[in-house]
Amino acid sequence: MTTTRFAPSPTGYLHVGNLRTALFNWMIARKAGGTFILRLDDTDPERSKQEYADAIMEDLEWLGLTWDRVERQSDRLDRYAAAADRLRDAGRFYEAFETPTELDLKRKKQLNMGKPPVYDRAALALSEDEKTALRTERGQGVWRFLLDHARIEWPDGILGNVSIDAASVSDPVLIRQDGQVLYTLASVVDDTEMAVTDVVRGSDHVTNTATQIQIIEALGGAAPRFAHHSLLTGPQGEALSKRLGTLALRDLRARGVEPMALLSLMARLGSSDPVDLRGSLDELVDGFELSHFGAAPTKFDEDDLVPLTARHLAGLPFEAVAPDVAALGVPDGLAPRFWNVVRENIAVKADMAAWWALFRDGPSEPMVAEEDRGFVAEAFAMLPEPPYDETTWGTWTAAVKDATGRKGRALFMPLRHAVTGRQRGPEMADVMALLQVKPQL
Ligand code: GLU
Repeated sequence: MTTTRFAPSPTGYLHVGNLRTALFNWMIARKAGGTFILRLDDTDPERSKQEYADAIMEDLEWLGLTWDRVERQSDRLDRYAAAADRLRDAGRFYEAFETPTELDLKRKKQLNMGKPPVYDRAALALSEDEKTALRTERGQGVWRFLLDHARIEWPDGILGNVSIDAASVSDPVLIRQDGQVLYTLASVVDDTEMAVTDVVRGSDHVTNTATQIQIIEALGGAAPRFAHHSLLTGPQGEALSKRLGTLALRDLRARGVEPMALLSLMARLGSSDPVDLRGSLDELVDGFELSHFGAAPTKFDEDDLVPLTARHLAGLPFEAVAPDVAALGVPDGLAPRFWNVVRENIAVKADMAAWWALFRDGPSEPMVAEEDRGFVAEAFAMLPEPPYDETTWGTWTAAVKDATGRKGRALFMPLRHAVTGRQRGPEMADVMALLQVKPQL
């Protein structure tokens, strides 16, 4: 049975980069009819906050990425301690005492000599007496996993066959000096015990995967299928890391981006399949093929969300927005017509408010060119008081044409500008039918 998980650390808000990871894992599970676990990687008590955990769930719910269950790493510390004991018993775990400064110095020396900055395993040579002395002097050490210096290979769902020389990787620290279990171990224990079958994550985790494969083997577990998606860059290929803060899902939501617009983009971006607006998550799942994604960095342009959002809104039936329309104060009798008239003339839902204000109060700033003032004044004098309907515009402009001799654009455009305060918009027959007050100059 396919089981995937999305494993954010609740130390901040989800951004578009995280969304890719969440969405891929969610789609794999849903496509296979399997299980999708939301796992909160909250072993760091200082940085993990309930407020962020809540925000992560709220963001996923907004997108409709529902999970089958939630797991919290902070509830499973005893499991990690047990796994650490097993690694110790198997001779794959050792205590090391270097300070960060010492490690830094070692790295610099290695780099100066043109060597890769890999931990030199000096701690393996310590006698029990030396360790005791170091513990007295420096307190507890950190615990490192002893890698087997062989090649670590796996068929990656996106990268193809990956082969990493374990000797090029430092023995990973799995337990910090203060006893805190680190992600590398906790994740392996969870993936194994929760029978996770597929792990998709960012390509920044490739080295972690190599070490985790050996840790899984040392613990006697079976490795899941791994896939590493490329990282997002900005539209020009620039690193996105610094801007991710402003690409938080909640910020996009506040800017009016619609979930299906965001999902349609992120479910295909970076693959050989075209980005196309889809109406539902089911449609996205149907066409999702992990193997169609490439290893090259993926360009993300926030502006792509604008036309997708507008198209999504233009296609929505009234029922989908009835509460939003009602919240604006549009009377029930007018609401469906109001939506049909504005839906192709808004970029985000919030733009409905300006249209309703126009229909309710008339234009706050009629756009009238100096040379058209006399014409518009004359035309407005010929317009009766509301209520108006779909015939008002035709009847009115025919009468204005007769009275002034104007026709075509010269007749219609100044009136459109004067009534709506805008250059463009819906059919004027529809605008007039919604107008609640007689427009004034
Ligand atoms: N908490 C890790 C992260 O957010 C999870 C990585 C993984 O999927 O294993 O990077």
